[in-house]
Amino acid sequence: MALTVVGSIAFDSVRTPFGERERMLGGSAVHFALAASFFTDVRVVGPVGDDFGDEHLALLSERGIATDDIEHIAGGKTFFWRGHYDHDMNVAHTDDTQLNVFADFQPKLSPESCGSQMLFLGNIQPELQRDVRRQSAASFAALDSMNLWIDTARDSLVAAIGEVECLLLNDAELRMLTEQPNLVHAARATMELGPEVIVAKRGEYGAALFTGEGMFAIPGLLIEDVRDPTGAGDSFAGGFLGYLDAVRIAGEHGERALRQAMAYGSVMASFNVEDFGTERVASLTEGEIAERLSEFKRLTHFEEAPIVR
Ligand code: AMP
Repeated sequence: MALTVVGSIAFDSVRTPFGERERMLGGSAVHFALAASFFTDVRVVGPVGDDFGDEHLALLSERGIATDDIEHIAGGKTFFWRGHYDHDMNVAHTDDTQLNVFADFQPKLSPESCGSQMLFLGNIQPELQRDVRRQSAASFAALDSMNLWIDTARDSLVAAIGEVECLLLNDAELRMLTEQPNLVHAARATMELGPEVIVAKRGEYGAALFTGEGMFAIPGLLIEDVRDPTGAGDSFAGGFLGYLDAVRIAGEHGERALRQAMAYGSVMASFNVEDFGTERVASLTEGEIAERLSEFKRLTHFEEAPIVR
């Protein structure tokens, strides 16, 4: 049981209607790994620069995450992202992206990382995602991306999508990628590129799952105090794939596990948005996760009843 992730390891400067933070630890691989670490063994692959300190590594290793494939590039600077949210917190506005050490990064996975059964290709340049996919022996690989790469590296992204079993993307990005205004059509068109499982992330409105067997959808968790949505998508992916990795070992496959994984993904995303950066997820307990899963079940449960008139 092990899950390897490659993606951005970043410093994020974020402004929301509820406050601002400078240079918090973030990045797709970090948010993903923290969420997934509640379910399975996680290994992070990616480069960092001289500005990345032991305290940042400790935040990951304290959750049991293997950091030996995090490569320190001497003289380099860690990936940096600056963004803000206005009152619609479903839409992130990017103000600055500095790839820094990611610009020339050539991943070299250790035998342990190559041997994970599950792989998450978090949001980063698609050619880098492909390079990692080629090295990995994973039987189930999932990929996330964003509008920047659809705009600037579309062919590479389409090729990368063709090499994975599962794609997680925002609903707007699925529409943008396929040029299909309808989400169901967009998901089907994306399946034709290769993946057999598509997850459309829909911000505060929840998420939808598309497989060869059909569709499934759940709402978001109606959180009262949303302070910073940065990393919600990666926390969703961490809960989703972390749970799937754990139950695959126990022999559970298919639609039932995928639906349960959707619920765990939503729960992890709901914690992520309650505070800035990694603060909430890094200090979570298993008890809080279990409690919120029950709350989510109550929120979405109803009895089928006939019309009475
Ligand atoms: P999300 O889960 O979609 O909110 O992703 C948030 C994370 O994505 C932030 O922590 C950023 O550091 C990271 N990010 C933003 N832009 C990029 C990019 N172009 N490539 C990789 N990671 C990015």
